[in-house]
Amino acid sequence: MARALNMAKTTLDFKGDFPALAQSVNGKPVVYLDSAASAQKPQCVIDAMNEVMTKHYANVHRGVYTFSAETSAQFEDARGKVARFINAASEKEIVFTRNATEAVNLVASCFGQSLKEGDEIVITELEHHANIVPWYFLKEQRGIALKIVPVRPDRSLDMDAFEKLLSPKTKMVAVTQMSNVLGTVVDVAAIVERAHAAGAKVLIDGSQAIVHYDIDVRALGCDFYVFTGHKLYGPTGIGVLYGRYAALDALPPYQGGGEMIEKVSFDKITYKEPPVRFEAGTPAIVEAIGLGAAIDYLNGIDRTAAHTWEMEVFHAAEKLLSAIDGVTIYSTAPQRASIISFSLDEIHPHDVATVFDHLGIAVRTGHHCAQPLMKSLGVTGTVRASFALYNTMEDAEKLSAAVQKAKRLFL
Ligand SMILES: *Cc1c(COP(=O)(O)O)cnc(C)c1O
Repeated sequence: MARALNMAKTTLDFKGDFPALAQSVNGKPVVYLDSAASAQKPQCVIDAMNEVMTKHYANVHRGVYTFSAETSAQFEDARGKVARFINAASEKEIVFTRNATEAVNLVASCFGQSLKEGDEIVITELEHHANIVPWYFLKEQRGIALKIVPVRPDRSLDMDAFEKLLSPKTKMVAVTQMSNVLGTVVDVAAIVERAHAAGAKVLIDGSQAIVHYDIDVRALGCDFYVFTGHKLYGPTGIGVLYGRYAALDALPPYQGGGEMIEKVSFDKITYKEPPVRFEAGTPAIVEAIGLGAAIDYLNGIDRTAAHTWEMEVFHAAEKLLSAIDGVTIYSTAPQRASIISFSLDEIHPHDVATVFDHLGIAVRTGHHCAQPLMKSLGVTGTVRASFALYNTMEDAEKLSAAVQKAKRLFL
């Protein structure tokens, strides 16, 4: 059911689908500009999760009774929805994790077992800590070397430097598709092509990109793709690891426990095939179903129109902010989306955010889980306003007015 674009007002009313956004904060209608940290949830996600728990909740896969069969079917159905959403070849390529962080840790830990001293892993200066620390563990544990692709002065990724870092020693390239600090969009298809030519595997961190772009993992050709449910309008506690089946099947188990085994005796244990090999214990059942509902929601809207709309609001906000004296915008890559990272003269980002909060505006401040990137920008933190499909031109105007107000208060 595609939603019609109201050309007269050039607006799409997605806000109405998100009950939390109908509220007031500090006496002001809420302006939510922190979707890059976590997105608000549409009513249909809340309803789907409520419904499982109200109508037929039970543990999955083990029960023969009706509740368990119904919940199991819905849980596996969610896996199928994820597979189709990213155009995976099969739902066997979809592993449910706790979040994107766990998905990267899973690959680093399992793939890492095949690595030896002197092997190299390439990451970039744009990465979230979730795509740095798990690889750093391998440096500590196995003596691998981490090679870092720098960011250019224009905030794009230095693709020439990337190519020079590749060598026969490169075993894995782990790269974000979109920076959570700068909104920089990376040409991951080109990265996959070059990394594969060098014989390396590729993991893409799609935590931000999948919220704004249609993702086709087969067209990208990546070995692994990770994302997190709560940024994609779904619940917390659920993330996704996509792995090309052969790449997944080459990995040893991650955690041990129930569900992931075939046969257990005290002398010998055999493991199931992917994806269950990597899903020890009771999964996040209700959350997986909630993520399935979020995907249904996105499939039910005109995503192209929604993206166009969101980019219009984002660019309008950029234009308003850059016209204000004293504002420095860091998120200036030629290919970028939905995120404005900025500072306001010498005013501490936390002070800016506190003024914003009094006006009902939610933004994020600090290092945004990307301290190496902060260092390369030469700052300790920024104010980050991030946009989602439910933001409006009014939100952009209120953000700009709030910056003016902070200036008046502090300068
Ligand atoms: C949010 C984010 C993550 C981590 O997501 P979690 O849900 O905290 O695991 C990883 N990478 C990027 C680019 C992100 O924005």
